[in-house]
Amino acid sequence: MRLVVIGGVAAGLSAAARARRADPSLEILVLEKTDSISYSACGLPYFIEGRVQPLNRLVRYTAEKFARERGVNVRTGAEVAAIEHARRQVALAGGERIHYDKLVIATGARIDRSVLGGSDQPHVLALHTLADASRMDAFLRDRPLKQATIVGGGYIGIESAEALRARGLAVEMFESSAHLLGRDDAALTDLLVKHLATFGVTVRLNTRLKQAPDEGLVLLAAGYRPNVELATEAGVQLGATGAIEVTDRMETTLGGIFAAGDCAESRHLVTGRPTWIPLGTTANKMGRVAGANAAGQRDRFPGIVGTSIVRVCGLGVGLTGLSEAQARHEGFDPRAAIVQSGDRAHYFHGRPVRVELVADKRTGRLLGGCIVGEHEVAGRVNVIATALHARMRVDEFEHLDLAYAPPFAPVWDPLLVAARQLMKQL
Ligand SMILES: Cc1cc2nc3c(=O)[nH]c(=O)nc-3n(C[C@H](O)[C@H](O)[C@H](O)COP(=O)(O)OP(=O)(O)OC[C@H]3O[C@@H](n4cnc5c(N)ncnc54)[C@H](O)[C@@H]3O)c2cc1C
Repeated sequence: MRLVVIGGVAAGLSAAARARRADPSLEILVLEKTDSISYSACGLPYFIEGRVQPLNRLVRYTAEKFARERGVNVRTGAEVAAIEHARRQVALAGGERIHYDKLVIATGARIDRSVLGGSDQPHVLALHTLADASRMDAFLRDRPLKQATIVGGGYIGIESAEALRARGLAVEMFESSAHLLGRDDAALTDLLVKHLATFGVTVRLNTRLKQAPDEGLVLLAAGYRPNVELATEAGVQLGATGAIEVTDRMETTLGGIFAAGDCAESRHLVTGRPTWIPLGTTANKMGRVAGANAAGQRDRFPGIVGTSIVRVCGLGVGLTGLSEAQARHEGFDPRAAIVQSGDRAHYFHGRPVRVELVADKRTGRLLGGCIVGEHEVAGRVNVIATALHARMRVDEFEHLDLAYAPPFAPVWDPLLVAARQLMKQL
């Protein structure tokens, strides 16, 4: 039995490692087209900022180390050009054919450069891979640049804006929609635009930049698409999101072929519908499940609630579930409460934290939340995420037994204060 995995980062290596544990006798081969595997793309903005150095600190395993410690062979520089499922083989770009019994597609996502005219110029960069980061760092070192233009107001654009400010550049960010962070939330966007402005980042919302400016550094952080061409050419079906359709066992519509990570959809547990929210945390979990099932075990990935966290010039922003506007769009009858409160006792230097909770008036069910603050943002958004997984109602959430001691939290946690406010509207 041979398992072949296409893609050697989060989802692919999680799948391979889990398959190895599930079946020590399985032959496993990971094929990665670039020369690097197992790196944290999430750390790239902090390398550009100068906080994480050198770049290879972001690399967890080399191919040799993965073989030695995880018992899995990885071939780098091995691009899969086609999947020939009828013969159970993949064709490499050089023509070599490799047989598989089970296949995991973990090809990730990429930036579609066609969203910006002139994006083939050398000063138009992306920040997606180690090579991209290295290129951007060299570009910044070699030139006395004053200005950066960022295309895209998602978390990569925003984290990069902070990094480029730290490198001394003035930053202008263009976002084609009315929102930042892909969250349909006008009040949050307004807050973030004002906050970014105080750090020298100018945001232009509702502005689709058609052509790259001629000067400065241009970062293309928009137009993310799942890498699905290999899969579709092999006959694997895509879902409505444009990513690969999978079951909760991460199996595609072709038996024996699994998909995981940024190339695959997942189920949104609040809406119940398929969604495409490509994140490293999800990629690792999906990969584990795909690997277990490909190796003959039974495991399932129930889905996600859309949790993320991002640093915005010193401010933590945690998001989970749906905003009020998104909830309305999904057919709920949403109500929202926003409270501004201290994140710990005032005599322990409590700082303001903004908590928003969204719930459905018809059922009282919690639908989403957002935390903006300086401390404990991850902890608080994770409480909301847990409640979303448990399909909690606000009247249940209001009575959660949350921790209190003056150095950590106020006696009434801001989450509970927000829940109490929300109850008044339900
Ligand atoms: C700047 C940045 C910051 C991020 N920050 C966060 C964060 O803070 N939190 C978070 O949860 N997520 C974050 N992410 C997202 C996270 O990095 C991705 O979700 C994760 O890397 C997806 O893993 P993956 O294995 O699905 O895909 P990838 O990491 O994209 O790996 C896919 C691999 O497949 C290879 N491949 C593709 N096609 C072929 C082929 N035909 N043959 C062989 N190999 C192929 C590619 O070369 C690539 O190495 C960030 C991403 C970026 C770019």
